[in-house]
Amino acid sequence: MNKVLTEKVHKTITRLRTIWPKLEGKYPFIAFSTGKDSLAMAALIYEAVEPEKPICLYAHHDLEFPSNLEYLALLIQRGFAIKTAKPFLEYFELMEKGISFLTLVEAWCIPLLIGTTFLEWLQQQGARSPREGVMFRGISGSEYSHRFHGGLELNKALNLPCFNPMLEFTKEDILELIHTRYGLPLNPIYEHMDRTYCICCYTSDAKRQEYCQKHYPEECKKYYSQIEKLLFDSGLIEKVHQKERFKTREGKLFRHGFAHWHRLKAQKVMGAIKHRLSSGSILYQIRDNDLIDAKHLTPVKGKWVRKGNEIRFWEVPERVTDTLIKRMINCLDCGFCIGECFPCRRFDRESKRLRIEGCIQCGRCLTLTYCMGRRHRFWRRVIVENTAHGHKARQEEFVAVPAAAASGL
Ligand code: SF4
Ligand code: SF4
Ligand code: SF4
Repeated sequence: MNKVLTEKVHKTITRLRTIWPKLEGKYPFIAFSTGKDSLAMAALIYEAVEPEKPICLYAHHDLEFPSNLEYLALLIQRGFAIKTAKPFLEYFELMEKGISFLTLVEAWCIPLLIGTTFLEWLQQQGARSPREGVMFRGISGSEYSHRFHGGLELNKALNLPCFNPMLEFTKEDILELIHTRYGLPLNPIYEHMDRTYCICCYTSDAKRQEYCQKHYPEECKKYYSQIEKLLFDSGLIEKVHQKERFKTREGKLFRHGFAHWHRLKAQKVMGAIKHRLSSGSILYQIRDNDLIDAKHLTPVKGKWVRKGNEIRFWEVPERVTDTLIKRMINCLDCGFCIGECFPCRRFDRESKRLRIEGCIQCGRCLTLTYCMGRRHRFWRRVIVENTAHGHKARQEEFVAVPAAAASGL
């Protein structure tokens, strides 16, 4: 190793040794992708804190290359502590539930296909919030990394503290470290592409596309045909104000033009009608009963009642009732919001649903910040206001029911 690299390594190891004792009581882990950067990160941490071997967490979702698992087995033999986990829901499951395809502005894959495995691990370790975790990432020093990342930052999507100790390392440094200092094998997928993408990564790369079409034709076909359905079969493409040549199947699908898709107004559909009653309470008529799931109303237990497809709230600010209804009618049961409340929210892997139990109504989750359904549902369900008058009769149809009964409805 050259002198400059030796100094970088020495500096990083010293820093890691200083940080490590301060993480007492936290839950540190290495975000492991099977790529070269996270491998170098793991090797450096293992050298710095030996004999400790912090866990390397790897999310293996259905669009990851199956060969990654064989590679991981090899690393485990070399002494790495690796935990492989599945996300709460797979890519195609989320698509079937109504999420949008991945775009450059709506890249939900990282939080949902990878982040959920991290959140669940932290919850299982006994962390009371993602803030008690510490993620180590091997992001190396491209211009992009320097612009968007610091050595220590809060990963906002996951609300998780994060160290990026390798920002000073170049791609060449990383390869040198792996080969010369640690003598480790690279993921063999690098023989076919430059990065460890997923099979259907939305970021366009001709080499990867060609490799995947050849080896995983079924997955690729399903991936692109779902996008085609949403954009072309639905007729939505006609509502885009673009020149005809940019609206072709060739451009949008085969050249990954869909990655630049920006949400249109036409993707909003009516999910509920809101009525402000003269009594001061607020009533929502939900478009259909299937969109009603009372668990979302738990944070205001005792302050709402349901009758058929109508829900009436009292003594709850309108900002909060809107939030609860928007979340409920757009929910994908993706489980991501467990990060808002580890003690009471969890994802039930058997039923594939979010559970909310033991809520103490602290009110901390009364925002839409972490709601993936609200943000990423392709056909977003919105609340429409009813401005007509004369709701008196409707108001009188409701009878108050005991809080316990109301919450169980
Ligand atoms: S490889 Fe692409 S699709 Fe897969 S998680 Fe990364 S950005 Fe998302
Ligand atoms: S954050 Fe508070 S209000 Fe929300 S589910 Fe948890 S305990 Fe209930
Ligand atoms: S409320 Fe939002 S984040 Fe939580 S499970 Fe539903 S869609 Fe996912």
